Amino acid sequence: MSAIQAAWPSGTECIAKYNFHGTAEQDLPFCKGDVLTIVAVTKITREQAERLLYPPETGLFLVRESTNYPGDYTLCVSCDGKVEHYRIMYHSSKLSIDEEVYFENLMQLVEHYTSDADGLCTRLIKPKVMEGTVAAQDEFYRSGWALNMKELKLLQTIGKGEFGDVMLGDYRGNKVAVKCIKNDATAQAFLAEASVMTQLRHSNLVQLLGVIVEEKGGLYIVTEYMAKGSLVDYLRSRGRSVLGGDCLLKFSLDVCEAMEYLEGNNFVHRDLAARNVLVSEDNVAKVSDFGLTKEASSTQDTGKLPVKWTAPEALREKKFSTKSDVWSFGILLWEIYSFGRVPYPRIPLKDVVPRVEKGYKMDAPDGCPPAVYEVMKNCWHLDAATRPSFLQLREQLERIKTHEMRL
Ligand code: AMP
Repeated sequence: MSAIQAAWPSGTECIAKYNFHGTAEQDLPFCKGDVLTIVAVTKITREQAERLLYPPETGLFLVRESTNYPGDYTLCVSCDGKVEHYRIMYHSSKLSIDEEVYFENLMQLVEHYTSDADGLCTRLIKPKVMEGTVAAQDEFYRSGWALNMKELKLLQTIGKGEFGDVMLGDYRGNKVAVKCIKNDATAQAFLAEASVMTQLRHSNLVQLLGVIVEEKGGLYIVTEYMAKGSLVDYLRSRGRSVLGGDCLLKFSLDVCEAMEYLEGNNFVHRDLAARNVLVSEDNVAKVSDFGLTKEASSTQDTGKLPVKWTAPEALREKKFSTKSDVWSFGILLWEIYSFGRVPYPRIPLKDVVPRVEKGYKMDAPDGCPPAVYEVMKNCWHLDAATRPSFLQLREQLERIKTHEMRL
């Protein structure tokens, strides 16, 4: 269930817009069209609503329980830098703002004003999603992902991430990895990663086990422990003498399967690279680092992007899609078959994008099977639409595997 529902009044009925099978035992699965009733509510005052709808974005809205007229609702909409508050009256089991059009429930009302402003300052464009540590804490508790700090032992530092240390921990006798963050400012990004992870479950994605949000602001994301560390370090430290072709193909297929799952669920990773793939004790490669993962087709700031891994259209026009992930997957294949080399060797960073835009493609790594190099090159079509899907990539890699086994 998404956080927006926590910002909606209790008793609200809404209609599920998509199928949700649940990712954990405690999740409530629902189907598109099901009517859901919101049972929990965070009370929001007029002033809090105005703060929540800041920075201004015309069409951003939320529904809160009215503080002046208990039992009624208020629709708060941001428009041209101001927030308008509309009282939603509740009369003989029906809801209305203008006493002309009546609705059975809030969802119908929202849907009506989403398709047409019909007298409001603007049509409704985007529901405000709850944010902030307190809201997130509530949300994780409610959805059953909150863990107990008393049961977690932090043992040793095993890595440094963008947000803070990654530690080896012990949770109820199991080895776990713990991302620790003490700074409130970056907590939001950290929580975004965790909330994406609650929605995803696949044997080739690093599994979220839970989240701990401390009263004093500390934040911990607990995931399965990947004993052999990042794939790029693994490839570099073992090298050609230890890792055979079957092993490289297995890693490629592991990652491809995770990406096929993300593709099927409309998630775009945006930062696929060997440094963001981890290797388990039993040599299974799993995709990690969902910090940038977004539901398909959203845009983002391109300032901090890993240029050598990012598709040209994503760098140029912020066009992130499954097909831009496919480009990165091609680079990742190149990393795997070159045993962890940095892509575009001997080309200065500033020259990479102009050359790629003109159609330059990296040579095959030494010893790379020609069929695998063909797969890489297909991922690097400048025209995103002609790149294969992850499903097709998985099929191609499986054909290569079958062929190699026959040799
Ligand atoms: P990250 O913040 O995800 O980029 O992680 C930084 C480093 O911490 C990685 O390169 C790994 O070496 C280590 N690390 C992160 N997550 C795990 C995990 N689940 N298991 C083992 N090591 C991890």
